[in-house]
Amino acid sequence: MNATIFDIKRFAVHDGPGIRTTLFIKGCPLNCKWCHNPEGLEAQRQLWYFQNQCLKCGDCVSVCPEGVLTLEEDGIRINRELCTSCGRCTGVCPTGALHFIGDIMDADTIEEELLKDLPFYEESGGGITLSGGEPLSRPELVREILTRMKGKGIHTVVETSLFTSSEVLRSLIPLVDMFLSDIKIIDSAAHKEHAGVPNEQILENFRILADSEREVLVRIPVIPGFTDAPGNLEGIADFLCSLSRKLPVELMNFNPLARDKFRILGRPYEPADGDKPYSDEAMEAFRDIFRKKGLAVK
Ligand code: SF4
Ligand code: SF4
Repeated sequence: MNATIFDIKRFAVHDGPGIRTTLFIKGCPLNCKWCHNPEGLEAQRQLWYFQNQCLKCGDCVSVCPEGVLTLEEDGIRINRELCTSCGRCTGVCPTGALHFIGDIMDADTIEEELLKDLPFYEESGGGITLSGGEPLSRPELVREILTRMKGKGIHTVVETSLFTSSEVLRSLIPLVDMFLSDIKIIDSAAHKEHAGVPNEQILENFRILADSEREVLVRIPVIPGFTDAPGNLEGIADFLCSLSRKLPVELMNFNPLARDKFRILGRPYEPADGDKPYSDEAMEAFRDIFRKKGLAVK
């Protein structure tokens, strides 16, 4: 039982209460066009390239048996479809400009990593957060980690799109103290177009969470041209008002920094070039849509 972990963020303070350690698991069934962590989309390890660290020595090109790499004027080009992840190129790169993102870890290693920060959890009322990617796409591993953490009395948070079966969600609820769960687009066809999957299962899982006694924070990314239409935000607010209890909401401002990550991964990034984070005033206006419906906004 293992997973590819692409980051372990220690001393995190925005992923649940107190000081937390957040584990980022690679692999996500969604494909949001504005994803903030596109390095978490694929479940496998991936080559990652920093042009500004590259000496253009060509050593990586010479050792690649598959002809994946070419040295061009501005640096290395990667034909990812041919890569077998053999690691020869990263082994010879003198600067680390070319390296793999993601370490394969089993449950014992993950537990060991998470327990390193136990004193901080105890001191601050914090704990661990499982994120991704989509952690619920690895339910067996997630169940194992959560069971081990709860067995030690550690507070657990899962950050999830809720794109999983209701059976998986129900089975994990007793092990999770708090869910951080996204709603992005209320219209299912538009959700499929811009996030890669329809949203009926996600909305059904919100109903299940609302019926549970677990703490839930609904996170809504506000992305220009994708989720920011008043009709979409109104629709999300109406949906939240239809649940058996009113869940608190947090609006997440657009962050264009993922553009470079998309470029490195050779993926198209669809938010427009000039799109910027919203001003504080604009974000307040978006928050008011939810407040006017009687929803608590963080
Ligand atoms: S990991 Fe192996 S196949 Fe992929 S680019 Fe490097 S040397 Fe080539
Ligand atoms: S081995 Fe490293 S430094 Fe040399 S060309 Fe390849 S990526 Fe650049």
